Amino acid sequence: MSPEEFRQFGKQVVDWIADYYAGIESHPVRSQVRPGEVRAQLPAHPPEQGEPFEQVLSDLDALLVPGVTHWQHPNFFAYFPANASGPAILGDLLSSGLGVQGMVWATSPACTELETVVVDWLAELLGLPEHFRTDAVGGGVIQDSASSAALVACLAALQRVGDGQVASRGITRRHTLYVSEHTHSSLERAARMVGVGADNVRIVDVDRDTLGMNPEHLDVLIAEDLAAGAVPTMVCATIGTTSTTAIDPVRAVGEVCRRHGVWLHVDAAYAGVAAVCPELRWINDGVAEFADSYCTNAHKWLLTNFDCSVLWMADRRPMIDALSILPEYLRNPATASGEVIDYRDWQVPLGRRFRALKLWSVLRWYGAAGLREHIRTSVGLAQEFAAWVRDDPRFELLQPHPLGLVCFRPLFPELATEDANDRTYRLMEALNESGELYLTHTKVAGRTLLRLAVGSPQTERRHVLAAWKQIQEAVG
Ligand SMILES: *Cc1c(COP(=O)(O)O)cnc(C)c1O
Repeated sequence: MSPEEFRQFGKQVVDWIADYYAGIESHPVRSQVRPGEVRAQLPAHPPEQGEPFEQVLSDLDALLVPGVTHWQHPNFFAYFPANASGPAILGDLLSSGLGVQGMVWATSPACTELETVVVDWLAELLGLPEHFRTDAVGGGVIQDSASSAALVACLAALQRVGDGQVASRGITRRHTLYVSEHTHSSLERAARMVGVGADNVRIVDVDRDTLGMNPEHLDVLIAEDLAAGAVPTMVCATIGTTSTTAIDPVRAVGEVCRRHGVWLHVDAAYAGVAAVCPELRWINDGVAEFADSYCTNAHKWLLTNFDCSVLWMADRRPMIDALSILPEYLRNPATASGEVIDYRDWQVPLGRRFRALKLWSVLRWYGAAGLREHIRTSVGLAQEFAAWVRDDPRFELLQPHPLGLVCFRPLFPELATEDANDRTYRLMEALNESGELYLTHTKVAGRTLLRLAVGSPQTERRHVLAAWKQIQEAVG
């Protein structure tokens, strides 16, 4: 494709995306295709001769769009938001265009140095502690996902608790990790991947009302494991659980960690970005004093296309010791000088995209004020929705709901718990099949709850109101 052809098709693609956003409400939110339907329409074999790009675009419309679930639809209330935005899409396009591999500073200095600047900017925007900044002993790095961030944190924790020997000798003792039943599954996966093993992941009790981790029980489990000769290695505290946005008491959990010399990883994948608003910074209470690592996803609620998860370390040394290897083909004077950052030592893969461009583009386009407005709009709409649910006696509302997610359930007083759960689930499926909106569910204390997550920049009050009317009608 020549630059002139690229210009021509590139403009068509940008027009396609702009038209897509302008007309997004004409699509059913959740794709209505059956399993195998998309694949059956596609050729089983690749083309021998190249084809005109127009045919790619026409197949996109005819064959793929029906199989797309529209995550940017204003009536998408499922899971958590995965915001895209104009500036992020354009920043990502520029990154694709440059086609840079930023594995070490020398392979593209701007890729590394812009990343350092934007992660430090983001730390400042979120009110995170000074020691997370790169000019101190800590530092931030953009990962593909919070799952990778948890894995990197786990490797760093092992390295620190293992007297710096784990990277060379491997695991020689029984290490233990601590989570609650609401901790994201990526922590157990990290434990499996690093060789700690799922059986050594200890489940700490949660408070019945807040669903937050119980620090006293954590203390008991750690003491038990120490007495049994294990090495308590990492605790994951969550700020905003995936199920209900419950918040673990980071300060109290951190005090237990500090007492036992256990690494504290804080997973704030969804909720952390809310701290752009000073009135929501209370969610990070205890992080400054106790977190050894902290992660939040710009790619959920902060208007930055997947993938862009930011991980900060209070001290970057254990992570670098855990992951740094210098093969001959990567030797270069800048690395040898020790004056530069090589982000390959801060992540699992070697290669890395110029992801900082899209985050930079977002931070500059919206500014702190624009980001705060986006978060406040989502929180405001979610709070309004919660008030409607609370005021309707046919529903029960799960408290608290401080952010953009509201969990609730229709009450079926005549039904036993299991039957009521079934009814709730079927009601949700019927709503989702209508294509008008998309909700997901969770289970808390044996009861199925519906989750409505507000977070798209496309979502206005009228959309949330229409969703509420549909939910009410479905309950009848
Ligand atoms: C979404 C989520 C994750 C996983 O995020 P990925 O970036 O998709 O790996 C981890 N933890 C929490 C609390 C989440 O909500």
